[in-house]
Amino acid sequence: MPPLSLPEDHLGLYVHVPFCVRKCAYCDFPSQACADGALFDRYLDALAREADARRPGRLVSSIYLGGGTPTVLGGARLRRLWAIVETFPRADDAEITLEANPGTLGDDVAAALAALPLTRVSLGAQSFHPGELAALGRIHSPAEIDAAVAVVRAAGIPRLNLDLMYGLPGQTPATWAATLERALALRPDHLSAYALIVEDGTPLAAGVAAGTVTLPDEDAEAEMGAHLADVLAGAGMPLYEVSNAARPGVHSRHNLGYWLGRDYLGLGPGAVSTLLGLRWRNALLDAYLAGDGVAVAYCERLAAPARLLERVMLGLRLRDGFDLAAAEAACGVTLAAIAGDALLRLVADGLLTRDGAALRCTDAGFPLANTVLARLMDE
Ligand code: SF4
Repeated sequence: MPPLSLPEDHLGLYVHVPFCVRKCAYCDFPSQACADGALFDRYLDALAREADARRPGRLVSSIYLGGGTPTVLGGARLRRLWAIVETFPRADDAEITLEANPGTLGDDVAAALAALPLTRVSLGAQSFHPGELAALGRIHSPAEIDAAVAVVRAAGIPRLNLDLMYGLPGQTPATWAATLERALALRPDHLSAYALIVEDGTPLAAGVAAGTVTLPDEDAEAEMGAHLADVLAGAGMPLYEVSNAARPGVHSRHNLGYWLGRDYLGLGPGAVSTLLGLRWRNALLDAYLAGDGVAVAYCERLAAPARLLERVMLGLRLRDGFDLAAAEAACGVTLAAIAGDALLRLVADGLLTRDGAALRCTDAGFPLANTVLARLMDE
């Protein structure tokens, strides 16, 4: 298949909502447990000021309202969030995604979902096994995932992604297979499935270190990953990226923008932006509020080799690869000039292939994509 593509001038808009009902045991994202309406309002005030300061003179092609848990804001504040976002000029066919936690879709949020022009909801399901959800510290039950899907469908939102995780405490290949079966029975058109990462400083890491939490061994996790690929292919929604699968034609445009190295503007505390060769990260919540929404924690200009290498690393995560010639033209440098030897060795080893203008992992290389990327990075 030819690689998935987007125009070079694609611009994605990401809005970070840094609040959750409570912190999950594995999470090191910049979010905090919060139910303080006054703090939500201060956040929205600062977001509105940031939007005014950063609104670009370009159409936005995809919008992702993520977090954190945007739905923790409740229906009225979600509508206010949208009122801020809709001041950005956007393409007529813009993809508009809301990330939602299945434990937060009460009546007022459901009404907001139906009222906003969302094209997609991404539900953080993670598992359909009650014990696994409890071990992760998730706030919802398997039945609440089913109920949340019903809410999304009733709101008339056309596309649904389910997020799942494997390699969980207490999980076995059999419970993972059962989770996949339950997820696919809900007929999502997109599915993201990531292996659990034990992040330093989280309660999960402390539990693993203390021996109170046991994770599946490497073989079991590899078996789960292989089962995932087989089941999704059999269900007509093969992996189109290392951890993402979709029915034909309904991949995530917003995520594709990241994987193809297109520009994106991130609003909200801790959000990262990459625009016109500049990358910056916003300050975290307290400093963000103190800085009226325009406090930046760091900013750098990306050099051409770094930009190209990043495009290669991300583009090779896509099953059909990416247009290397176009990426080289956009960055003004060739891959051969910066990682030529590693590239030749990976091609000679049968892990990478050039297919016209495209560079992609071979069938043998795709399941080993992380190893392939590590070898390129080492160069
Ligand atoms: S809901 Fe998501 S962002 Fe919030 S604590 Fe859990 S994993 Fe982290």
